[in-house]
Amino acid sequence: PPWRASVLTLFPEMFPGPLGLSLVGQALKAGLWSLSLHQIREFGIGRHRAVDDTPAGGGAGMVMRADVLAQAIDNARAADPGLPLLYMSPRGEPLTQARARRLAEGPGAMILAGRFEGIDERVIAGREILEVSIGDYVLSGGELAAMVVLDACVRLLPGVLGAEESLAQESFEDGLLEYPQYTKPREWEGRPTPEVLLSGDHAKIAKWRREEALRVTREKRPDLLEGRDKRR
Ligand code: SAM
Repeated sequence: PPWRASVLTLFPEMFPGPLGLSLVGQALKAGLWSLSLHQIREFGIGRHRAVDDTPAGGGAGMVMRADVLAQAIDNARAADPGLPLLYMSPRGEPLTQARARRLAEGPGAMILAGRFEGIDERVIAGREILEVSIGDYVLSGGELAAMVVLDACVRLLPGVLGAEESLAQESFEDGLLEYPQYTKPREWEGRPTPEVLLSGDHAKIAKWRREEALRVTREKRPDLLEGRDKRR
């Protein structure tokens, strides 16, 4: 069965957007994953289908109502049962390659994209929602964040990438950043391709890549090495 993505949003017209192109888009057309969109506004209140209201306690902005969201969620869950529900939120647990892999190994993901100042806190506990962040900055809505999660998951699904190998070597898969990559021409603007990569000696090349991955990680992201040493 294909991996299922189900998105609750006020802007379904943003999808599939970038997810309809290239690798991930071809996989969608090929039926390796499916995308269903749920318009939250269908469950809005009154003639204006209101989905938000002023924050309790006062202050700027609007908050998405718990009752409206609960109805939208219950409806989406009836249509797409059995999926973990994520709420994209700057307060959430950081998205990591490990989390994307766990999600990709499951049946799919249901993702709630917030707007305004976010959602009523009560719906998070009331509907078993996992809050997930894509980084320490604030977006204007959860849709782009949802697309980031889906892109990271879908490219891990069996059959989406041509060579399974290209995954194993990637940044984060072994706790390290990737080694530097080169292609033709052999020399460009006076900069040669490292000799070892042209040597044809696969053991030497593998050793060089491991060392370079370590060097690059130490230079750019020493925090990854600390976490890695602790886990071992
Ligand atoms: N008032 C919220 C706060 O300070 O935490 C920010 C709300 S933001 C303007 C609107 C929506 O964008 C959020 O409900 C969330 O769905 C999404 N969003 C913003 N930044 C995000 C991030 N770093 N990761 C995931 N989702 C994000």
